[in-house]
Amino acid sequence: MLKNILRVLCLFSLACAATLNITPPDPLQGNSVKVVLATNAVVQDAKALFNKATVPLYLHSPNKYLAILGTAYNWPAGQYPLTVTYRQNGQTFTKNALVALRAGKFEIDTLVITDGKRAEGATDFAALNEENKILGAVFRAWKKGTYIDGIFAHPLGKTEAAVTSPYGAQRRYKDQSGKQISEWAHSGVDYAAPKGTPVHAAQNGVIAVAQKMRVHGGTIVIDHGQGIMSIYNHLDKLLVQKNQYVTKNALIAYSGDSGLATGPHLHYGLSVHDTRVNPGEWFIRKWF
Ligand SMILES: [Zn+2]
Repeated sequence: MLKNILRVLCLFSLACAATLNITPPDPLQGNSVKVVLATNAVVQDAKALFNKATVPLYLHSPNKYLAILGTAYNWPAGQYPLTVTYRQNGQTFTKNALVALRAGKFEIDTLVITDGKRAEGATDFAALNEENKILGAVFRAWKKGTYIDGIFAHPLGKTEAAVTSPYGAQRRYKDQSGKQISEWAHSGVDYAAPKGTPVHAAQNGVIAVAQKMRVHGGTIVIDHGQGIMSIYNHLDKLLVQKNQYVTKNALIAYSGDSGLATGPHLHYGLSVHDTRVNPGEWFIRKWF
């Protein structure tokens, strides 16, 4: 009886026509998830609540609202409720789903810092905090529109570039005597690159950060819109300026070993709504 009443109500309710799609519903730790809300009319304030963060769903096409959500290596594997809410005709509606986060494999790297100055940098938490403050404010400022066109390009122009330290690796920094001086996890991927290797924009976007930092070294962040930003660290020479628009594959810098680096390489990362995700799948997966 109740079921029948609900079915009749559904026939007259716009909200019943909305569908929520989560892909993939079972990402690996560090992978990203696409959330699509399809409705039969315009809705307001569509947003997703996921692992204590609220992310807006952006208008993608008529009556279709979309957001990419990130997960990270340090989120425990398990079930994560995902709640989407939106308003229609003055009423608030809710749709629920579950994301089953699968455990990834992350290695432990031991890095020995032979240079005294760099070793100082490894424990310069005041500088690190200051840099993280600047970057964090950028990672939390999300543009409604997106510049993203197709898959992301490899910043070194080749997908076969050797990975010297993968995403999610636990990094233990030791000094020459073997004493551990600090430890933190790797939020991006390091690619082998001799000093002076051209670095290209992975995707269209606006330069949000272009500055030299003590720990992160020469740093560029490109804002691709809708909470998605690519990060390039330890650069030697920066060729772009803040607020400049760049297209995918544009030359933006030359790689180096500036900041806390044990040798020349490119650190490349991706922030998705302020979560540092594994950037690897973005070279092959088209999201929009
Ligand atoms: Zn790195």
